[in-house]
Amino acid sequence: MKYKIDDIIQHLKMFGFFFQGSEIYGGLSNTWDYGPLGVELKRLIKDLWWTTFVTRNEYNVGLDSSILLNPKVWEASGHVNNFSDPLTDCNGCKSRYRADQLIEEQKPDFDYSKLSNEQLKEYIDKEKIICPSCKKANFGEIREFDLLFQTQIGVIRDKKSEVYLRPETAQGIFINFKNIQRSMRLKVPFGVCQIGKSFRNEITPGNFIFRTREFEQMEIEFFYKPNDKTDWFQIWKLEIINFLENLGINLENISYLEHDEKKLSHYSKKTLDIEYNFPFGIGELWGLTSRTDFDLKRHQEYSKKSLEYLDPKTNKKYLPYVIEPSVGVDRLIFALLCDAYSVQKLKNNEERTLLKLKPIVAPYQFAILPLSKQLNANAMELWKKLLPKFRCTFDTSGNIGKRYRRQDAIGTPFCITFDFDSLNDKKVTIRDRDSMNQERISIVSLKETLKKLVNN
Ligand code: ATP
Repeated sequence: MKYKIDDIIQHLKMFGFFFQGSEIYGGLSNTWDYGPLGVELKRLIKDLWWTTFVTRNEYNVGLDSSILLNPKVWEASGHVNNFSDPLTDCNGCKSRYRADQLIEEQKPDFDYSKLSNEQLKEYIDKEKIICPSCKKANFGEIREFDLLFQTQIGVIRDKKSEVYLRPETAQGIFINFKNIQRSMRLKVPFGVCQIGKSFRNEITPGNFIFRTREFEQMEIEFFYKPNDKTDWFQIWKLEIINFLENLGINLENISYLEHDEKKLSHYSKKTLDIEYNFPFGIGELWGLTSRTDFDLKRHQEYSKKSLEYLDPKTNKKYLPYVIEPSVGVDRLIFALLCDAYSVQKLKNNEERTLLKLKPIVAPYQFAILPLSKQLNANAMELWKKLLPKFRCTFDTSGNIGKRYRRQDAIGTPFCITFDFDSLNDKKVTIRDRDSMNQERISIVSLKETLKKLVNN
């Protein structure tokens, strides 16, 4: 069942996952702050990605490069000349659009990739492409809109001090290719993984955290020998699907879009968008791109430093080819929350809203709930014993039914209730969020039981 984006956002705001950016000053459009539960969820997802692709992967290592890089990096990568979108304004209601997106939405079969901005404008007028907001077909000229965020370093504002906020984390990996390979004595094939903030001055940000100007990426640049017969593209596609499934994403909401050769980015030989069916429609979640040796070659040319790899078997030098699986952390969180959000009608006609998050990503795995104030001290003692081992919260406010609802709403998979019987029989009740089944468990074996529950 698909829920409305506004209902999901409202829920996430109410329970401390997200807040509107700069809210008390009237906000800053399309910025979102991660609240206490949101930041926990984000941290867990990043940790899971890192453990899967770095710690437990036989080929990969990690990196944390700077956000500010030498401006020549972005000349070499092609971003200074190619990283822009065709912008057009509706003359009627003044809404702003990407001309390519308007055409893609309204004339999906038309190939516009070779058209100049003048020709794009002619096509939009001829085909009477309409403004999605006011439904009129009356657009202004198309201008190229630079997506790079510029800033200055130092006190003197001249050309030399201009730098860019990185629009992707990938280039930090390419420029460190030799450092990493040499210092870690790595043999091709190997991959380098990085998590970090990226910035793009998007024309049409929106749809909650789907498209923002400041976002976080998790990228892998996987280097392999150009004539390697192994199908690394397919291997990485399967790795991504496994990761999504493990995270708890419903694969029925995933689809695949292979880019038409004519629409490929300047650096790409093959691109597959792994898409998710968001409440507003299908959108790219994870990009998988074959970048060949484009980036290493360009950095070699611009830096005048050799980036070639010396093959120890053949004693020949070459520039490795690259497969790039790249995902936005925020989009991944959004997709996960869309799958997890659910409103259920109960037998007594009441409703409960829950987040069906797996224990690996739930901000709290357990909640300790004393049934009465008189039991607070005993229950707290138990909580303190569990805290070093589990993500566990303690809640004493409101009646037990309300407390269960709150834990359902924030995705806590199990509630542990400490009642008057617990004082005598040394047992507690564990309630399962999804089935609402309850079971009595002895406190002595509680840690063992909980360990099993979180690993399921
Ligand atoms: P789109 O076509 O949606 O603009 P893209 O093809 O430009 O995305 P890539 O450059 O391939 O995106 O970036 C890799 C990943 O980074 C994307 O799959 C997406 O998950 C994420 N991403 C890109 N731009 C944004 C953004 N503005 N806000 C949030 N996440 C983003």
